[in-house]
Amino acid sequence: MSPTGARFARAGGGWGLAVAAAGAVGACERIPEVEALHPVLARPPDRIEVRELAPGTNLGEALLSAGVGVGDHRALLAAFGEQADARRLRPGTRVSARWTRVPERLVGVEVWTGPDTTVVIEPAEGEGRWSSSIRVTALAVDTVVAAGRIENSLWSAVVNLPDLADIPDRERLVWRLDQAFQWRIDFSRQLRASDTFRFAFELNRRPDGSTHSGTLLAAELSVSGSALHALWFAPTGDDQGGWYDMEGESTRRAFLKKPLRLAYISSRFQSRRFHPVLRTWRAHHGVDYAARQGSPIQATAKGVVVRRGVSRSYGRVVDLRHANGYRTRYAHMSRWAKGTAVGSAVAQGQVIGYVGMTGLATGPHLHYELHRGGRPVDPLNVDLPAGDPVPAADLERWERERDDRLAILPPRPGPQLARSRLASTSR
Ligand SMILES: [Zn+2]
Repeated sequence: MSPTGARFARAGGGWGLAVAAAGAVGACERIPEVEALHPVLARPPDRIEVRELAPGTNLGEALLSAGVGVGDHRALLAAFGEQADARRLRPGTRVSARWTRVPERLVGVEVWTGPDTTVVIEPAEGEGRWSSSIRVTALAVDTVVAAGRIENSLWSAVVNLPDLADIPDRERLVWRLDQAFQWRIDFSRQLRASDTFRFAFELNRRPDGSTHSGTLLAAELSVSGSALHALWFAPTGDDQGGWYDMEGESTRRAFLKKPLRLAYISSRFQSRRFHPVLRTWRAHHGVDYAARQGSPIQATAKGVVVRRGVSRSYGRVVDLRHANGYRTRYAHMSRWAKGTAVGSAVAQGQVIGYVGMTGLATGPHLHYELHRGGRPVDPLNVDLPAGDPVPAADLERWERERDDRLAILPPRPGPQLARSRLASTSR
């Protein structure tokens, strides 16, 4: 075990795969006899064209570029539409088209809509007809635990844990920790060297051996000696869960803490400030986040678009109305995202536009406002309404699962480690 962390992996579904493989070996032993009776005809292998969606292009264009004729094009898109929304496909999505060689005939299209899901389109009965289905890759789910101590930042502590070295997307773990704890703690400011963390997450393993991290099941941060918890629980029993603290309170708030993932605060809420463009003293009833041009802006809470327009000072601006008399405003956008026409419902975290510098702005940034009961309030200094706690009907199951989740966490890194680190940094 390394001094900085501990890890064990429990093979969950792995046994199921092993049994299936053993069954296949048994079946193979009988195959030679069958082959002797029915020799396989040598046929030229199918031709497969693979494309990736380039930014700004769509599935239809990818299909045409893979050689699909205009005759099949529309029917394929319709068949795909029965399984998924083509407008939601991300750049980099893999699309393949398969042809037989003699005669040359399109016999299938596959679209990788997620790491483990593929929409498969195959010929259906009748000329020019296609049917579609979703294929889900069978996954084995391991539980992986890790623990460590912060030296510089949580990000570097997690990403550099030797025991997580073989997990390719470990940066996503830090992102999940941030999602779980963002209302309690600002990782960039409030964590100190010698604070500790420990967490457990699911690791999905595909049949080809590749992995990607799954749900963050349990996490504990010890910050200046007090412990914060985020424990995954799904009140409805499906995968629509969330993180809760030891008392069953949601770690979420009704509003995200910030409307941008990567940004720093360039101007805070102030009743009076000197305006850099207008050169006068006036109130700043919002928070400015400096970010790169084009960074996606997220709706901080579920709501309805009540304004989308261009104003002289705000530039391209979107206003959302939320429950309980709250509104939010997002200004200086370079452009709006799709699905933000006035009256559209938006989900928490949905991208509603992109950072720009339209209106009165000296550089690319987002001006964000939060209004309660018609008055602007400081989004960084307001007690936001909490997310829903564990429902009373689920309390018994919650307590059982909470204790199970805590039990899989590895031990906290001990105090000896702190002494050895101090010794090494005082060099
Ligand atoms: Zn501003």
